Amino acid sequence: MSELLCNFVAGRWQAGSGPGTALLDPVLGDELVRVDATGLDLDAAFAFARETGGAALRALRYAQRAALLEQVAAVLQANRDAYYAISTANSGTVKADTAVDVDGAIYTVNTFARLGGALGERHWLDDGDAVRLGKDPAFQSRHVMVPTEGLALFINAFNFPAWGLWEKAAPALLSGVPVIVKPATATAWLTQRMVRDVVDAGVLPPGALSVICGSSAGLLERLQPFDVLSFTGSAETAALIRRHAAVAERSVRVNIEADSLNSALLLPGEAPGSEAFELLVKEVAREMTVKSGQKCTAIRRVLVPEAMYPAVAEAVSARLAKTTVGNPRNDAVRMGSLVSRAQLASVREGLARLGAVIETLHDGARHALVDADPAVACCVGPTLLGTRDADGASLVHDLEVFGPVATLVAYRDLPHALALARRGQGSLVASLYGSDAAALAHASLALAGSHGRVHVVSPDVAASHSGHGNVMPQSLHGGPGRAGGGEELGGLRALNFYHRRAAVQAGSNVLAAMETRP
Ligand code: NAP
Repeated sequence: MSELLCNFVAGRWQAGSGPGTALLDPVLGDELVRVDATGLDLDAAFAFARETGGAALRALRYAQRAALLEQVAAVLQANRDAYYAISTANSGTVKADTAVDVDGAIYTVNTFARLGGALGERHWLDDGDAVRLGKDPAFQSRHVMVPTEGLALFINAFNFPAWGLWEKAAPALLSGVPVIVKPATATAWLTQRMVRDVVDAGVLPPGALSVICGSSAGLLERLQPFDVLSFTGSAETAALIRRHAAVAERSVRVNIEADSLNSALLLPGEAPGSEAFELLVKEVAREMTVKSGQKCTAIRRVLVPEAMYPAVAEAVSARLAKTTVGNPRNDAVRMGSLVSRAQLASVREGLARLGAVIETLHDGARHALVDADPAVACCVGPTLLGTRDADGASLVHDLEVFGPVATLVAYRDLPHALALARRGQGSLVASLYGSDAAALAHASLALAGSHGRVHVVSPDVAASHSGHGNVMPQSLHGGPGRAGGGEELGGLRALNFYHRRAAVQAGSNVLAAMETRP
């Protein structure tokens, strides 16, 4: 039997008492390790994090916690090779895709270390200036931000076992809030290994970081009013979480990142072969294939003027045709596998549903697998679907196929295109391609209300833009409506979730005296 990974709770490594769930290599089908959370004393685990971890972190100042993050990043950097090996084995990723997860995680921790250092030797933060509450200037209201006196529970998705932990943990720990992470079972190994390395290095105070691998049973029940919960995953599970007593009755603050039908939009007036056209084609093909399309931010709908539909279809298909799919250990392979048989089945089902109502422009089934057995490997070639009936093909705007799949959609004019982008009912990101700065600016603002991020690609930033689907720690991640209504990152804005804002109404002398305990 494979190794049973331990959980780290209440300051010690603890094995679950059940047989465990096997984590598999999605390409070779081999069992790698097992995880299990049966029989853990969750009351003790949560109490230890909340009391011991929380108190220790809050005793530090922002700059001190930022220094800890710097050390965390150094530990992760030192063990980077092991993470690459685990990701290849457990997530089926090629090196470039592992980098998005692992190096993205390290970059994010380093970014928050730098941002946090600038907050200085303080225990709390001001939120704006004090304001007088009446005619007498002596009595004022000062808004303060203090770390919440609870813990942060992360229930994460399978697609980013590294970044998904650290993009949340970095702002939480910087804020002074202890973390318990429950990674998605299918790919939990990498998360567990990173926590193990950081714990072994003794960087963080006891209770600051815990990991529970296996079932989520009992976790939400332990949450108390000052705790916060971040969930990333499907809309169905998100709905269960919103209805849970922890959220509905105990007002646990919750952040949700769920499904998203992100779009890429080629503005009117760009000819085939123009720079904007080529930039769109390149980005669409890249977004479809990075991490085998298992990115919450991946382009799912490509909105182009009716007249451009055939040219874009041909150009994107030509790029996709060159994508080699298969075993990520083979250097010739550009796209690895999906994370599990369940995901493969889900992608196939989604493709069948969409394929029944719209046309297939490039069929992923045409890709022979390199160095992988199609009966075992969870590999699937990239598929471009298409429709000229943007309004009638409603499934295109409703069904997120979480794999290397996108749909080309023809639009009549710009208002139609913007309306189609909004038919995703709230998305994480839309990207715009064009060369007219004013038109791009106006379209950005028109989509800002329905998207967490608008990524604008014009020829002048061809070499410097950060990519449609790359989530940068400096920028907001999250989206309204279907995308979950959450907000993460965005530089120091990320700290808001882990702080409580309070108004202190007092005389000027009292407000000034607060500086004696900065
Ligand atoms: P999922 O089934 O909802 O699982 C997500 C997480 O929730 C896992 O850790 C899972 O644990 C846990 N979970 C399952 N049932 C639960 C319950 N009843 N109570 C509490 N936790 C529970 O999602 P998925 O299908 O694995 O993930 C794919 C989806 O995630 C896609 O639809 C994608 O759009 C979305 N996603 C969104 C973002 C974003 O940032 N917006 C990022 C990545 C993925 P187990 O693994 O142990 O079941």
